[in-house]
Amino acid sequence: MNVATEDYLKTIFNLTQQQDRAGTKDIADRLGISQASVTGYLQKLAGSDPPLILYKKRDGASLTEAGTRWALKVIRNHRLIETFLYRTLGYSWDRVHDEACRMEHVISEEFEARIAELLGNPTHDPHGDPIPDRNLHMPDEKALSLAELQPGDVAMIERVSDSDAALLRYLEKNRLVPGKRLTVKERSPFDQNMTLRIHGVRGKVVLGPSVAQQVFVEKEVRHVHTAA
Ligand SMILES: [Zn+2]
Repeated sequence: MNVATEDYLKTIFNLTQQQDRAGTKDIADRLGISQASVTGYLQKLAGSDPPLILYKKRDGASLTEAGTRWALKVIRNHRLIETFLYRTLGYSWDRVHDEACRMEHVISEEFEARIAELLGNPTHDPHGDPIPDRNLHMPDEKALSLAELQPGDVAMIERVSDSDAALLRYLEKNRLVPGKRLTVKERSPFDQNMTLRIHGVRGKVVLGPSVAQQVFVEKEVRHVHTAA
């Protein structure tokens, strides 16, 4: 267990969900450290035995199979701990992430297995993020952000970004939580603000693009009948 290594692996894993390689600058931004120290650490991870990442200064970093397994293990710990804090200890959903960021590095395999069993092997954490199973298989879930929807679209909220506690409180207050269905009523042409109706909730909610990008949805497919 090495906290810094695990944070690097987790960060590279998350960044490479959207692109092939994680750039030094992106990693530095996410971890809040200088690009020079990131470069040094990435070289170390690439030179470990077995190598945890593939790294070329110009292209950035990607995880090897060993690095991926390790990252998934930390992510599994993180999301199980969040679920445990939320369901069993009664933490609110905006307070579980920081605790989990610390504990994910230190719990034993036995502790992990016991939480999973106690919780009935949950598949998703309180923010709707999928939990890799015990064989470290991560369910494949497409990430479509709310910001990509158009007026008339109906969708269900699957998960929300978990790292900003204030954002989580705001989303909860507006009932923008996993499992809720919504309809996009309008999108303003220049600032891309979205007006939403949340099913089962009175009134409408207006969201700016920076919030909409942190809410992930599954769009409902409308059945279009073509003339036979
Ligand atoms: Zn979290």
